[in-house]
Amino acid sequence: TSYGFRQVSEGEKQALVNDVFHKVAKRYDIMNDVMSVGLHRAWKDAMISALNPSRSEDYSTLDVAGGTGDIAFRIIEASDRKAHATVLDINGSMLAVGAERAKKKGLADNLTFVEANAEELPFEASSFDAYTIAFGIRNVPRIDVALSEAYRVLKRGGRLLVLEFSEVEMPLLDKVYDAWSFNAIPQFGKMITGDAEPYQYLVESIRKFPNQSDFAAMIKTAGFSRVTYTNYTGGIAALHSGWKI
Ligand code: SAM
Repeated sequence: TSYGFRQVSEGEKQALVNDVFHKVAKRYDIMNDVMSVGLHRAWKDAMISALNPSRSEDYSTLDVAGGTGDIAFRIIEASDRKAHATVLDINGSMLAVGAERAKKKGLADNLTFVEANAEELPFEASSFDAYTIAFGIRNVPRIDVALSEAYRVLKRGGRLLVLEFSEVEMPLLDKVYDAWSFNAIPQFGKMITGDAEPYQYLVESIRKFPNQSDFAAMIKTAGFSRVTYTNYTGGIAALHSGWKI
């Protein structure tokens, strides 16, 4: 199935993505729970366990495509509220929801919100101990450029972690997943936000994203070492890891 998003230029793709997240920002968190039947919480928790953030005030992380803050909040909590996290997103509507949530959680002092593009990070080289990106990289038009930027802004010894939807590697689960994503997700999207199209785009973007081993190869090409990945829930999502050494 194609929803008409296939033949678009990089600039057009980013404009479509921006439109999607402006539209859904206020309902984003509830939609995440509905669409993933709550699984995104477990995947994000597993990502933070893999990161194992240092409980030090000098520990500084960058969460790209950070949206409404889920990853950054978890990192700060896991560091006993010592670490600092910069939440970067291209979309001011998503960041506004994130900043509001941060205040409510009492985490605002540990956070900086930055509106910018993953392809052009407004930071000096070797600035961060960790770079995280969850369900964001498939939205970035030039993934190779985003990965090079990740490498540039990490310190030596720094860690890259990418959580993303991936290729389902379990025979029956893939059928269930297809039915869920091509039918249920756009339907729920329409029910909750009044518009199915943004969710059709999201489902389509998942299908076009490289599979586990192809994406691992891209991470190596960007310069990272000891690149590995772990499947979650049969490969519905995968966590890729790399180091700048
Ligand atoms: N990381 C959050 C999470 O896991 O809940 C949000 C993920 S949301 C599915 C994807 C985010 O990517 C959106 O907030 C969107 O604005 C952001 N995004 C899309 N293109 C981007 C780009 N080129 N640079 C930075 N962020 C981008």
